[in-house]
Amino acid sequence: MGSNNCQENQHTKVLLVTLAAQGHLNPILRLGNSLASKGLHVTLANTHSALKNWSTDAKSVGNIHLEFFSDGLPIDYDRKADIDRYMDTLKKFGPVNLLALIRSHQSKFACIIFTAFLPWVADVAAEVGVPSAMLWIQPCTLYQIYHRYYNKLDEFPSESSPDTNVKLPGLPCFRAEELPSFVLPTNNSHMLGGILDEVFHNMHKVKWVLGNTFMELEKDVITCMNNDGHVFWPVGPIVPATVFDKKDDIVFDLFKSDGKNDCLEWLNTQKPSSVVYISFGTLLFLSEKEIESIALGLKNTKQPFLWVIRPKENQQVPKLDILDEIKDQGLIVNWSPQTEVLSHPSVGCFLSHCGWNSLLESIAAGVPVIACPRWTDQPTNAKMVTDVWGVGVKMMNDSEAGFISGGEVERCVQEVMNGPRSDELKRNAIELKTAARQAVSDDGSSDKNIQMFVDEVSSSYSLSE
Ligand code: UDP
Repeated sequence: MGSNNCQENQHTKVLLVTLAAQGHLNPILRLGNSLASKGLHVTLANTHSALKNWSTDAKSVGNIHLEFFSDGLPIDYDRKADIDRYMDTLKKFGPVNLLALIRSHQSKFACIIFTAFLPWVADVAAEVGVPSAMLWIQPCTLYQIYHRYYNKLDEFPSESSPDTNVKLPGLPCFRAEELPSFVLPTNNSHMLGGILDEVFHNMHKVKWVLGNTFMELEKDVITCMNNDGHVFWPVGPIVPATVFDKKDDIVFDLFKSDGKNDCLEWLNTQKPSSVVYISFGTLLFLSEKEIESIALGLKNTKQPFLWVIRPKENQQVPKLDILDEIKDQGLIVNWSPQTEVLSHPSVGCFLSHCGWNSLLESIAAGVPVIACPRWTDQPTNAKMVTDVWGVGVKMMNDSEAGFISGGEVERCVQEVMNGPRSDELKRNAIELKTAARQAVSDDGSSDKNIQMFVDEVSSSYSLSE
């Protein structure tokens, strides 16, 4: 076992680099916190745009030092309005400005850790002669699929054979619709697909991949990757501390949780394991027809619900008769304290788009899932939920209408809450919750991997000094 002594590593400085996006920043901040608690000196370099969310004189968050570099755009520029331009400018100016920031430090960094979507950070690290690590913020399953797709190691669906099934080492057989949208011939997000292509061509420059997953969840694929010469170390689940009933969380919140007290107080009035919690994350917006279908399905189940409907910017939740009809059956909010909600004893299942953060939070809280995936990694995560982890069911689109029907919502809620497999799904969810807690507790599998990483970084640093 490596050293847990803060004093010994105190001179070992590591640099974290990430996009100023909630789903990237929070996992890397929490990882940084763990590294600092094991004695490393941790600095986070973020783009100036993140300053909009932190006070302008912020020097640290928790025990992580903050530094900023320019992405080449004015601070007030609306980056979300033109993501392609933002990513292009960042790729052009980010390396130069990050290099200047690194060179302004008198002592050398022992390692530069970055999140995916910033493949150029590996080049900057190589230029200053510092080893790099990537924090992979999706399951190892996705890492394996992208690695094999972008390096052309297997046959994937193509325009001439769109229905090709894909069987990869360490993974179940995937049908085309269960693969991430970026590897399909129908992919129309060329910018994000292009960045992943660059990431997987640059991986030979990266010494460690730290995955936001845990060994007990993805043992087969993680073992396969490591036997195949990758250094993929699971260090998760990296989720808000509130999931593990701890208070000392470190968080960057882009959205206001106005509804916090409403949600928790309302949940306090509900019966144990009775509430259907519904959220589609931060990026997806439901159409009126989809909202109607969900509302109709909920109405027929008579089950209490807590539903996050996020209206698009400057818009309102649509006024639909069906929402009025079910208003006494549940609570609709535009943002929830999700991890506290999932940990609440009244919650019985989570109807989710299967974004990786939401799914890990649900797994860590032991809540069964109704999977309603849309794009990117979500269809693959949903497949793992149903076919591998056995903690949920998948909601199918109506083949003619192209979206979910009220009847399908009702079927899924009944199946998870009261159906013949309900007990089994709950049992599996509780088993994974226990495994998740063990993984991050002292000497658990993920805790050991973090310690092993700290030890390797510290010892290679002492040698290079
Ligand atoms: N989230 C939340 N309250 C909400 C909706 C979402 O706190 O009402 C958080 C959720 O806990 C998760 C994140 O937003 O950490 C969503 O990330 P995910 O990867 O699931 O989905 P994305 O938004 O990236 O599609």
